[in-house]
Amino acid sequence: DEKIEQHDYDVVVIGAGGAGLRAAIEARLQGKRTAIISKSLFGKAHTVMAEGGCAASMGNANSNDNWQVHYRDTMRGGKFLNNWRMAELHAKEAPDRVWELETYGALFDRLPDGTISQRNFGGHTYPRLAHVGDRTGLELIRTLQQKIVSLQQEDFKATGDYESHIRVFHECTITELFKTDGKISGCFGYFRNDGRFVRFDAPAIVLATGGVGKSYSVTSNSWEYTGDGHALALRAGATLINMEFLQFHPTGMVWPPSVKGILVTESVRGDGGVLKNSDGKRFMFDYVPDVFKEQYATTEEEGDRWYEDADNNRRPPELLPRDEVARAINSEVKAGRGSPHGGVYLDIASRLKPEQILKRLPSMHHQFKELADVDITKEPMEVGPTCHYVMGGVEVDPDTAMSIVPGLFAAGEVAGGMHGSNRLGGNSLSDLLVFGRRSGKGASEYVDALGTKPAVATEDVNEALDRALLPFSTSTDGGENPFQVQQELQKTMHELVGIIRKEDEMEMALKKLEDIATRTRTVSVSGHREFNPGWHLALDLRNMLLVSLCVGKAALERQESRGGHTRDDYPVMDSDWRHLLLVCSALGEDNVELTRKEQLAMRPELFDLFELDELKKYYTGEELGGHRAGEG
Ligand code: FAD
Repeated sequence: DEKIEQHDYDVVVIGAGGAGLRAAIEARLQGKRTAIISKSLFGKAHTVMAEGGCAASMGNANSNDNWQVHYRDTMRGGKFLNNWRMAELHAKEAPDRVWELETYGALFDRLPDGTISQRNFGGHTYPRLAHVGDRTGLELIRTLQQKIVSLQQEDFKATGDYESHIRVFHECTITELFKTDGKISGCFGYFRNDGRFVRFDAPAIVLATGGVGKSYSVTSNSWEYTGDGHALALRAGATLINMEFLQFHPTGMVWPPSVKGILVTESVRGDGGVLKNSDGKRFMFDYVPDVFKEQYATTEEEGDRWYEDADNNRRPPELLPRDEVARAINSEVKAGRGSPHGGVYLDIASRLKPEQILKRLPSMHHQFKELADVDITKEPMEVGPTCHYVMGGVEVDPDTAMSIVPGLFAAGEVAGGMHGSNRLGGNSLSDLLVFGRRSGKGASEYVDALGTKPAVATEDVNEALDRALLPFSTSTDGGENPFQVQQELQKTMHELVGIIRKEDEMEMALKKLEDIATRTRTVSVSGHREFNPGWHLALDLRNMLLVSLCVGKAALERQESRGGHTRDDYPVMDSDWRHLLLVCSALGEDNVELTRKEQLAMRPELFDLFELDELKKYYTGEELGGHRAGEG
């Protein structure tokens, strides 16, 4: 008989990155007893790795900036497939969330006049990213953790117990969500260090589990990002949207093999770094798509002048949205103009003085020196695309962050909609602060309105326990090693549902995934439950598989190219697809059903923020009827 530790909370937040911490702070501020659970050590999340900064239209570096400009940039970046209400809330609330962080103790870099400094990034019209050198995520996490400690100190004064209202459970992986009478009632998991099982009874759960990059063989993501939240949501009856859209960041390290995929921040380009091929040519000028022609420089001279005088020059094409730059690099390498290790060159050394590089990009300097023995103040870096961010995620109500399952909320990278088909750099840190707060508030209000808490059913707990122990069972004896199956899955996704996609390859991928599903069901592990990485992976594999099926099925269905979804066989963006969302729901334990859904039309005053000529590039004639310019 297995003993299962049990805890009771009002709100359980799964994930301790920026979204989870901000959600937990909000739930506690609303008086809720809140648990924060994280699979990794507390403080170790993707958020901590974020380098470039947090987008917010404070207008410090250019007073022309405001929420409307940020909103327009975000919608353009997502190729107008974004959930416009989320993009609106995000653009309006991001500056307040950055300010609030300073009241919690953050200290962003400053402009000479003492206001918060803002840096340039791809797709943003004005310098907009609040930053702390190239270690912005570290400051964000440090500050949110500090706020939690200060709230715990307040709670100690009031109750004599630091953890009376907010408690952190780290190195704890959640494997199942519980529902009772259709509503969330709790969740189940295990502690990674000693394998003991735990259940949390709670009427509201916020998923803040981040991304899915570990389903690909080249990724900037670390080991935790196996799509757990996406899969937990699906299995609980929630829906995922936009899963065909994955962001391949244009600049990951390509050499040496052991570090392939590790991120090279976009700030290198924001600060003047340029991309060159093996002929020494700045090739991005050849890759500006029609929809962006008016906003980007046509000569190197103009592009260079923009860094000094952004009002009178157009930005260089190295700062196009990420999907464009990643595809361009891919084409150069394919055309045989790549660097020796299959990337292209990113040159900051000939653009800034060594002391400027060391001041603005200290982590990049350290990373290349330590990992590749390259001194970026003297030599160019070799870079290539790496799987970085998933635009797709849990379909939520924009204002409350609740999914279609009562009591289940999602915020941050695990939520879908906000970024449409492509996220702009810097828009994630702001997203997770804005919607982290909203999800904490939404969950608290839900709990207040609920009345009695739904009770967890004992059978559900027993089932969760059996499932967690399955990889040790004798029925799977002789099953495959989970690491082998994971590798196969990563290779399948990387090669067949990667940056450029084709129908026959994706069909092949889906066939392979069927086989991988069978093998996943019977992976076996030996040994005991104390820190057993094979066992951990066996449980994660189930999630990676389900998420990969969503990506594969949605990518096969969408017959156009848009943002983070490029079809070799349908290379053009098609207005008839813009208003369609592909919605995934779970079909049994390890299959997925795909349905189409119409996007809600943009509110008229938001629609009117765009010129009709621009909208014509994205919308069908019929949809343009309501625009202020009055055309059909
Ligand atoms: P994360 O910060 O990813 O946290 C997820 C949490 O969930 C972790 O605590 C994890 O342990 C936990 N978790 C996951 N599964 C489980 C489970 N089953 N049980 C319990 N806990 C679980 N964005 C920007 O805006 N600007 C940048 O400059 C920037 N730079 C980046 C650099 C790198 C190298 C990377 C990888 C990403 C970068 N991004 C950037 C993207 C951004 O950092 C992430 O999208 C964002 O931090 C995600 O935050 P989150 O709170 O949603 O989740």
